[in-house]
Amino acid sequence: MITCTNCETAQFLQITQSRVYFEDGEMINEISETYECTLCGATGKYVYDEDRDEETVTGEVEHTTERPKYA
Ligand SMILES: [Zn+2]
Repeated sequence: MITCTNCETAQFLQITQSRVYFEDGEMINEISETYECTLCGATGKYVYDEDRDEETVTGEVEHTTERPKYA
């Protein structure tokens, strides 16, 4: 789950841009999503690289496996 580091919740996050990269016209090997928090205005980016099975999160969002504080 992607959450806002300021608000510590995913509740106000919205995806402003979502891209999927293809390799050889079929394999999805990278997913890129840009997030914006509608509450505090924070922005961040989440990238998943399938080749390396690696997740990268930059900006004012964080990737967490924890349950949201405010469900
Ligand atoms: Zn926020």
